[in-house]
Amino acid sequence: MSKSTDELFKNVISHAKEYGFVFPSSEIYDGLSAVYDYGQFGAELKNNIKTYWWKAMVQMNDNIVGIDSAIFMHPKIWKASGHVDGFSDPMIDNKDSKKRYRADQLLEDKIDRYDKDGKTDKAEQLQHDMDEALKAEDLPRLKELIIEHEIADPISGTRNWTDVRQFNLMFSTQMGAVADDADTIYLRPETAQGIFVNYLNVQKSGRMKIPFGIAQIGKAFRNEVIARQFIIRMREFEQMEMQFFVRPGTQKEWFNRWKETRLKWHLALGTDAAKYRYHEHTKLAHYADAAYDIEFEFPFGFKEVEGIHSRTDFDLSQHQQYSGKKMQYFDPELDPDTNKPYGNYIPYVIETSIGLDRMFLLTMINAYEEEDLSTEEKQDSRTVLRLHPCLAPVKAAIFPLTKKDGLPEKAREIMDRLKIDFNIQYEEKDAIGKRYRRQDAIGTPFCITVDHQTLEDNTVTIRHRDSMEQERVPADQLDKIISDFVSW
Ligand code: ATP
Repeated sequence: MSKSTDELFKNVISHAKEYGFVFPSSEIYDGLSAVYDYGQFGAELKNNIKTYWWKAMVQMNDNIVGIDSAIFMHPKIWKASGHVDGFSDPMIDNKDSKKRYRADQLLEDKIDRYDKDGKTDKAEQLQHDMDEALKAEDLPRLKELIIEHEIADPISGTRNWTDVRQFNLMFSTQMGAVADDADTIYLRPETAQGIFVNYLNVQKSGRMKIPFGIAQIGKAFRNEVIARQFIIRMREFEQMEMQFFVRPGTQKEWFNRWKETRLKWHLALGTDAAKYRYHEHTKLAHYADAAYDIEFEFPFGFKEVEGIHSRTDFDLSQHQQYSGKKMQYFDPELDPDTNKPYGNYIPYVIETSIGLDRMFLLTMINAYEEEDLSTEEKQDSRTVLRLHPCLAPVKAAIFPLTKKDGLPEKAREIMDRLKIDFNIQYEEKDAIGKRYRRQDAIGTPFCITVDHQTLEDNTVTIRHRDSMEQERVPADQLDKIISDFVSW
């Protein structure tokens, strides 16, 4: 069944809604732009992705610990980090449609258009001009490019543009009852700063020695100018970040190590390596001395899923300056060149930062398959989520063959035992074939059927999602069979 990638993506989105993975937020009020809710299976899948990350980062590395810092932080933190002055996108409004766009996005779309039309020279030239303008933060030049390349508003079709302005992406709110400037606080646009400001607390209380890392999973908020491509660009999203503190001078080595380690983490889920690529940043943020993205090939092209950044001592130095508190670490290890301790320094930081929602979408897209099961006799198909069993929201479903003769009771008895360790579903409605299809659609790796023979010899039929093969096994071996597949 070959489908265009556009169609496939649309199908994944509607599948995600139909089967309780992702709903538009506030849907009964016509939704809230770029905000989504995770449904009953989405929440499970998301939790399993978090667990996979947490285990790989925190549990498997004895020099990495995890924290959970508050979303609200002292406003000076965002001054120190550079977000108040610099965390913005260039935006432009169309005076007729009154719609707001990211100027760079309009230009990117035009570049794609040129590429699609085979106008490679024009595409390359525009890319170059745009990169130059962005690097120089030359906002009038961005507008000039929009005019020169005759970019029209997709809604009004007109080219009646305002000037390009910088638009800060942080959401702000007031803390306490009195609304004056001093009380303005921000919803964090990244989780990293919560790690930086706690780095000495963790180092001291955990007696951590460099190199060590601090990991965190949590919500981040960005008032994205344009939000599109489903959960790729949301205004409220989740990040899984790890800051690794290293001795200055060793950052290159650690950067390369984390770059490789993180790609391996992605590939360990069985994803085709050809779907991933590294993208090296040539235009580095002011604080970085190296940056790579790990990109995944979504149906709409390669997009960043994770960033690995060498952030130097920028963040800790800034916090030292703004807070007036020392951010230094005393390194007792002997420098082989001088035979003296390395002594006091502000550590350098390597960051790995992955968007949980993008990882979620990647996982859904990768797993989704519309499989043709037609034979010469009859047409048949199924939609199956071939999720890695560790990530599957439901690990096994239990079906009594019929609703009578004590089969439901027996099925529930088996389920009650299994549910202590695994997320299990019980289903007795509809024919077995239909029940299989429903479980395939949510990615359940095993379906267990309890029939009359079970009552005699305590064996059940277990059906495997991917091969659709069935085998008869003793019910008391189910724990082991399931855990062999789903344990980490
Ligand atoms: P982009 O260039 O796509 O806006 P970014 O470079 O601003 O992303 P980072 O600040 O490096 O992203 O954030 C780290 C990760 O957080 C990204 O790799 C991405 O997976 C995720 N992320 C960032 N912004 C969003 C968003 N608006 N919605 C969902 N995930 C996001």
